[in-house]
Amino acid sequence: MNQHTTLTLETLQTSFLKWRNFSLNDRISIVKSIKEKLLQNKYKYAHAITTDMNKPIKQAIAEVEKCAYLCEYYIEKAPQFLQNQEISTNWQKSYVAFRPLGVLLGVMPWNFPFWQVFRFVIPNLLTGNVFVLKHASNVPLSAQALDDVFNVDTISFPIYKNLPINSSEVAQVIAHPIIKAISLTGSENAGKSVAETAGKYLKKCVLELGGSNAFIVLNDADLNYAAEKAVIARMQNAGQSCIAAKRFLVHENVYEQFTNLFKQKLEGLILGDKYDEKVTFGAMAREDLAIELQNQLEQSIAMGAKIVSGGKRNGAFFEPTLVTNISIDMPVFNEETFGPIAAIMPFKTIDDAIVLSNKSNFGLGASIFTANPEQLTNYLHLFDEGALFINEMIASDPHLPFGGIKNSGYGRELSHFAFYEFANIQTVVIQ
Ligand code: NAP
Repeated sequence: MNQHTTLTLETLQTSFLKWRNFSLNDRISIVKSIKEKLLQNKYKYAHAITTDMNKPIKQAIAEVEKCAYLCEYYIEKAPQFLQNQEISTNWQKSYVAFRPLGVLLGVMPWNFPFWQVFRFVIPNLLTGNVFVLKHASNVPLSAQALDDVFNVDTISFPIYKNLPINSSEVAQVIAHPIIKAISLTGSENAGKSVAETAGKYLKKCVLELGGSNAFIVLNDADLNYAAEKAVIARMQNAGQSCIAAKRFLVHENVYEQFTNLFKQKLEGLILGDKYDEKVTFGAMAREDLAIELQNQLEQSIAMGAKIVSGGKRNGAFFEPTLVTNISIDMPVFNEETFGPIAAIMPFKTIDDAIVLSNKSNFGLGASIFTANPEQLTNYLHLFDEGALFINEMIASDPHLPFGGIKNSGYGRELSHFAFYEFANIQTVVIQ
């Protein structure tokens, strides 16, 4: 490990010994300063995101604002979530307290370079942990901006530091005794590698990995509404979202009508200069990612898939694309397509739709559109998913736990569950 990394870990360990003695109120006041700094500099931070990974500026501003919203949520809720929980036992008094673990390592992706980091850091900072963060190598401006935003003037020591290292150096950092636990958001391969090293050193990790969410349209759904949601659910962030809808399963009676509506609404996306606030659809983050997506599309076409709309690539720009004539062995169905390709497939019955939905190695979420949500009551337990949204696209919201099963990883972020992943849940008994 290089000397800079060692020094950074030692600095954060010193910070932890101070930060854990702060009262919750004092920690909350630091999160308030972070939130204010975010909002005061939102255009500057959004510019860094857009420059790094091509997200249209309006969506980058929205990402920064969402981070402020998350701060607001935890500022309000932390006293309730982190208070000691009394438990009735045969002893005079017993309770559970939530203690910090120490210096945590975050390994984060480029697709939501602020949001992914905020949802890991803020609740765990309030518990009393401090952070080193290895950000994706293609978002250096965002990584620097985050270093700026978390180190506010109202605190005299660092509680967060960017680690400018390669992914090949992550294992050494995990192994270091100062690191107490790890959170990784990224691909399956990165997850396997981090989990292997964490296991070797008996350190806990949370893994937020890929997804290939199904978007199910039943024959009684409001098709116009469902098609509007479908466009956002698939094309937001140029399709580069773990919770994006990737596989569209549509009842055979409404399949053609829905496909036409979907195609028509795709034409409403506004393409253009990424710094123009009117633009709603931009290039992918890197050309190599767009080439990878093109390969998945070409292989699927060779297996019989048909392009209904889009399909062309120019550098990192990939057209919003709809494909039909899908079979379950095609890459657009059985792999994660991390870009703007929607694969649409008909089904006959709800049971068939559930089988297709579950035919994925991932298990992050599924959404179902119907005029009669009650009819789903006896089906929801059959979905192998971390989240189910009825008549809504899957979203991450501070109020709700977020995370997956199967190859989508393990552990949860957001809501009160976020506090339980990186806290020592300490039992105290007094007699
Ligand atoms: P990635 O290539 O796995 O990179 C994610 C982070 O892990 C980066 O910081 C990367 O560093 C690092 N990394 C890569 N290989 C590693 C290894 N072997 N050991 C340790 N660290 C490693 O993923 P990505 O392309 O940035 O992000 C896309 C993936 O993330 C998709 O699969 C997406 O679904 C998933 N994702 C999941 C969630 C969720 O909450 N479930 C949210 C967002 C994204 P370098 O950049 O230096 O390689």
